[in-house]
Amino acid sequence: MNRNNLGILQPQEIDEVRDRNTASTGEPDPNSHERLIPFCGPRQSRGLASGVDTAIAPGGILHGMATITRVRAIRTRADGTWVIVKIETNQPGLYGIGSASDHYRAGVVVAAINEVLAPKLVGRDTADIEDIWQSTLTSGYWRQDSVMGTVIAGADMALWDILGKEAGLPVYRLLGGRCRAAVPVYAHAAGNTIDELIADVQHYINDGWVYIRCQLGAYGGGGFLEPASPGEGGRPRASALRAPFDTTKRGAFDDEAYLQNVPEMFGALRQHFGYGPKFTHDVHEHLRPHQAVALAQALEPHRLFFVEDILPPEHVAYYRHIKQICTTPQAMGELFINSAEYLPLIQDRLIDYMRIRVSKAGGITPARKIANLCEFYGVHTAWQEGGDNDPVNQLAAYHLDLASWNFGIQEENHFTDGELAVFPGHAVTERGYMYGNEAPGLGVDIDETAAANLFDATRAAQPRFMAEDRRADGSLVRP
Ligand code: MG
Repeated sequence: MNRNNLGILQPQEIDEVRDRNTASTGEPDPNSHERLIPFCGPRQSRGLASGVDTAIAPGGILHGMATITRVRAIRTRADGTWVIVKIETNQPGLYGIGSASDHYRAGVVVAAINEVLAPKLVGRDTADIEDIWQSTLTSGYWRQDSVMGTVIAGADMALWDILGKEAGLPVYRLLGGRCRAAVPVYAHAAGNTIDELIADVQHYINDGWVYIRCQLGAYGGGGFLEPASPGEGGRPRASALRAPFDTTKRGAFDDEAYLQNVPEMFGALRQHFGYGPKFTHDVHEHLRPHQAVALAQALEPHRLFFVEDILPPEHVAYYRHIKQICTTPQAMGELFINSAEYLPLIQDRLIDYMRIRVSKAGGITPARKIANLCEFYGVHTAWQEGGDNDPVNQLAAYHLDLASWNFGIQEENHFTDGELAVFPGHAVTERGYMYGNEAPGLGVDIDETAAANLFDATRAAQPRFMAEDRRADGSLVRP
């Protein structure tokens, strides 16, 4: 057997070894001393080894590796913000799908899939999930940016989907099997007044929900001053920053108002509902850091399940102050895209719930590592979902939830019937619990005709930007 200086078998030699190991029974010989060394390069020059059974055996195992033949983006949702990666293989009917949705940069993601991901992956063995992740990550030298992280995640989920289909197993079983019967999710309750909020919370409790996020209107609600005439109430008469901000139409955000109203809101909720419901709240990074510390302390008597994003990513060092003065559980992570951001928070036990979005973490491969790391530090997972996400990302999180002992909670999603019709096999949420299915892989598919019918090209062509909240002087509040 000729090997190169690295001891790596060449493609033809791998096929020869596989032929010998499978010659008698069609099954790999577990006693063979001649182990296959994975070849990680493109396979264009070789086909599947002759004599290898590529059919799915009664046990559900596909013998012989599948090769990626096509990678493409499917853009859907009426506003075009959902991007699904589809990886096709040389095995008849074998493909996988993954989520690469980015609410604000969908067109950029599609371009990256077509121009970077597809040429990088075609020809690779689908089973080389870890190596594909690592080599795609560094393929542009700079790494772990938001767009490419999402693109890699789409491919990664699709490859896990394929692996599950090959094995005849749902992905959670490949990750170690289930730790729980179903996945608890938290609801989103909101009201512009406390009475409206109490009514919405009651609606969820009546439907069996236990975990409920409580907001006074939109993000920052409770902190917006009443709209005022220009120059009134100590606000500037005119400003170049007034467009698009105008205090006559939209209230200015005020840290002190928020710090007053949100604890009062939870006081009213606890008085009405007691301590049975598990309440959360999302600050959405609106506060100045020292005000965030004060809010965490003020919320302590109301015993939240967690408060989310009380600090922006730029000021996570203030978590150390929060942890020194109160026990209000802290959740953060939905803006994180690389390990340098979350590692210090985990290893110093500065947060209690890790809220990275699976598709922004880079997919199931890194998310599984993050979950495992968090377990050792007593941090729980709370993968981010919510309004922007698609049913594929939801199920990727679901499989991690089932298999992670240190799972804490998952965020709910809101999908229309028309959106769900695009994704046969989508998850179902009942009485605060989410259920997937036992189909091999992620368990969800995409109906491409329905996806195309849902897509509105005119809406999708519109640029999308994060909403801007501003303080009374016109300065931007970082969301
Ligand atoms: Mg959030």
